[in-house]
Amino acid sequence: MSVRDFGYSVSDQRAVDLDRKMPDELERVYLQEPSLRNCIACGNCAALCSAGSFTGFQFYRLNVLVSRGLLSELAKKAEACMLCGKCQMACPRGVNIRHGIMLMAQL
Ligand code: SF4
Ligand code: SF4
Repeated sequence: MSVRDFGYSVSDQRAVDLDRKMPDELERVYLQEPSLRNCIACGNCAALCSAGSFTGFQFYRLNVLVSRGLLSELAKKAEACMLCGKCQMACPRGVNIRHGIMLMAQL
């Protein structure tokens, strides 16, 4: 039987498995900076991010990857941050963003 090409494909499953154990490296990031768990992904930090203007860097997206246990290229992405601290002043949840980014950049 021949396989037909309908011009589209099935996407990878993106459901979050809450029972899956998070990699130890990422668990340590949350242990060292617990405020990262307070992020509600409102996007305030990304709206005024100095690095975001040049590189498309968005901290909260990085944090979502961490919370899903995804480690791929995390450190490389985190290195885009200039550590200016503007995001810190706009965060309604008091997330210590710079410390979180520094921890992620060391992974
Ligand atoms: S401003 Fe704070 S709460 Fe909002 S997305 Fe950024 S880190 Fe998360
Ligand atoms: S500290 Fe980093 S994430 Fe925060 S506004 Fe500055 S460049 Fe963006």
